Amino acid sequence: MCARFVGRLTKLYDVIVIGSGPAGLTAAIYASRDRLKTLVVAGAMWGGQLMLTTEVENFPGFKEGILGPDLMDNMWKQAERFGTELIFDDATAVDFSSRPFKVTVGSKVYEGKSVIIATGASAKWLGLESETRLRGRGVSVCATCDAAFFKDKKAVVVGGGDTALEEALALSKFAKEIKVIHRRDKLRASMILQERAFKDPKIELIWNSTVQEILGKDRVEGIRLRKVDSNEEFELSCDAVFIAIGHKPNTEVFKGQIELDQKGYAVVRDGTKTNVEGVFAAGDVKDYRYRQAATAAGEGCKAALDAEKYLERG
Ligand code: NAP
Repeated sequence: MCARFVGRLTKLYDVIVIGSGPAGLTAAIYASRDRLKTLVVAGAMWGGQLMLTTEVENFPGFKEGILGPDLMDNMWKQAERFGTELIFDDATAVDFSSRPFKVTVGSKVYEGKSVIIATGASAKWLGLESETRLRGRGVSVCATCDAAFFKDKKAVVVGGGDTALEEALALSKFAKEIKVIHRRDKLRASMILQERAFKDPKIELIWNSTVQEILGKDRVEGIRLRKVDSNEEFELSCDAVFIAIGHKPNTEVFKGQIELDQKGYAVVRDGTKTNVEGVFAAGDVKDYRYRQAATAAGEGCKAALDAEKYLERG
């Protein structure tokens, strides 16, 4: 199959992949290696969540681990090697109501005989006014990106999952003390991360507490917490607050175009098929359960194979 120009401005692709994390780029590798004309709308912040990670130790094939950005760079180059085209900008609109499907990126419209949605998920925020005001002034969702700014300082991490403990461990290389604030008395994080965090003398857990306010005028100076059981409020002084309370799917642009569940995740059935024939979804955009780079890559592979079958049927 090959691309052809439609009218003067648009080019028809066999597959348009929206998103460029492990799901999107694996889909692109499979599709373009199968000689399908493939476009990846990679996003202005390409590469997905692994771009915000340091060492990835559980992606198969790298016995010593690999840095997240290096892994994504490899996937990008592997896709390009087979002819995938990439656009480093966001899809601003889609139209799946007629064929070929249309994907708008700014002022340009791209047409695809099939589409694979792999836009992933983004970090959630607490929703406090002080959190918004102090974002980039000590409030962050990425320790990998920002931990080095807090050498010998005091940091707080909010959350009780894998991300929260990874953030705390990443901060431990720089900060002098890290307090992890969790709203319950039990962590959701995997045992291996719990063990590492409990062993780290710089990391302390503050249980059964919620964040009421992040303190500071122009930069973070502290945090006000409330004990869940007694409603007692107390303050901690700190220089940084890392929010690590989970993610939400990046599906805003697909509202009204494909079926989404109550939380906004893409609904798939029979593999990676959405409710629109020829439109597929893979990775964190449809998966709130596993959310791993390896599972996302596997789903990207499945979506490309499903798209290929769909295109074969004509
Ligand atoms: P998560 O597992 O959903 O955990 C979110 C944490 O934040 C939970 O402890 C939750 O508390 C807490 N939380 C949620 N909303 C909150 C709020 N409004 N206020 C205070 N606390 C709040 O999210 P995640 O840690 O980002 O992990 C997502 C997925 O990625 C998981 O499947 C995880 O295993 C995976 N992951 C894996 C690795 C790794 O393997 N190296 C690293 C990072 C992430 P409750 O526990 O009370 O619900």
